Amino acid sequence: MQTNFPPALLADADMASSAGVIRKCVHCGFCTATCPTYVLGGNELDSPRGRIYLIKDMLENERAPSADVVKHIDRCLSCLSCMTTCPSGVNYMHLVDHARAYIEARHRRPPMERALRTLVAAILPYPARLRAALRAARLARPLAPLLKGRLRPAAAMLKLAPAGPLPAPARAEPRRGDAPAPRGRVVLLQGCAEPVLRPEIRAATARLLERCGYRVEFAKGEECCGALTAHMGKAGAARQAARRNVDAWMREIEAGLEAIVITASGCGTHVKDYGFLLRDDPAYADRAARVAALARDISEVLEAAGLPPRADIPPLRVAYHPPCSIQHGQKLVSGPQNLLRAAGFEVRMPAEAHLCCGSAGTYNIFQPQIAGELGTRKAAALARLNADIIATGNIGCAVQIEHHAGAPVLHIVELLDWATGGPVPLPLADRLSGTR
Ligand code: SF4
Ligand code: SF4
Repeated sequence: MQTNFPPALLADADMASSAGVIRKCVHCGFCTATCPTYVLGGNELDSPRGRIYLIKDMLENERAPSADVVKHIDRCLSCLSCMTTCPSGVNYMHLVDHARAYIEARHRRPPMERALRTLVAAILPYPARLRAALRAARLARPLAPLLKGRLRPAAAMLKLAPAGPLPAPARAEPRRGDAPAPRGRVVLLQGCAEPVLRPEIRAATARLLERCGYRVEFAKGEECCGALTAHMGKAGAARQAARRNVDAWMREIEAGLEAIVITASGCGTHVKDYGFLLRDDPAYADRAARVAALARDISEVLEAAGLPPRADIPPLRVAYHPPCSIQHGQKLVSGPQNLLRAAGFEVRMPAEAHLCCGSAGTYNIFQPQIAGELGTRKAAALARLNADIIATGNIGCAVQIEHHAGAPVLHIVELLDWATGGPVPLPLADRLSGTR
């Protein structure tokens, strides 16, 4: 695509990057067919190609973001399905991240929207605050139907909050220093939402990695990876979070580290991009690239290590939902399925497996209508598989699909841990005992 960025504008590294991305687009439109928002609404402006045109016009002419442009960029899930489809190698992720930051810096949203976005950015990345907010949300849940108009995101937050009590924090913490570790040390990203909503994922991961021969540790000083704030256009906050994590993980890398293991694939996609995010920061660029090079989704680590011997568990049919951040963001297509099969499960894939479930970070809060349509569609596709359990690889997808399917959704590590000697995951324990 031809671009006409004024040379002075190209002195800005983000502008230069976006100009390069846009030039790669040959406007073939292949990406439209696999874009969830285009599939739902059929509006070209809600397709990758349409958004690229809108972003190009906004950036190239340094326009103030119009309400219409903001609407179509806000509707993008950042699912990156378009990047998988694109034959021309357009890095839509970097382009839309820049567009979101540009909008955040120059566009004044209505007061209620602004307040909700500030609130979400101040709560979600912090486990203690999130835990307190979810407790409050449980009490306020009956108010959700009363919240309409610009308060719909608040209603969505209440509906997505767990209806029952929050689980107790995981008791099984990684062991430190005592067990032999033939495969070396790994650091397990602690995450923000996952340990609050599903602490058993961390516990299962630690057990599984230790069974594979790794010593599992946490990094002191680590915090939320910054993906949530990045997707909200809060680029400064996202870069600060990345810098703090680079500091924390470099201390571990210097002490000898095999990998930074990540169980929430949305975080994995973001951490793997730290090198790009901090490329212009002389104090961090090299170290951020080293950190990014060591970031691994849990499925990559398990595939490389090989699963421990199988335990005697019943053969179950697993409906596997591949998170967008796994299949499009990290291009890990067959690994998680292969692991499940190697552990003895029958894996069933849903129709339209490439389409987003509508979770997409904070998307199901700020775009509840589209997220709801995608969630319902995904839940129906998974239900048609007539499986014993649904599994995925990202906490956001698990929450979204559980909400729409009305059925438990496990992380694949919970199944793999069970299949190699760990405890039976709670939702399966209830079901298996009920069938005896
Ligand atoms: S598939 Fe790639 S090159 Fe074609 S329109 Fe979409 S982004 Fe542009
Ligand atoms: S990231 Fe997803 S929603 Fe956004 S343009 Fe690409 S395919 Fe469409």
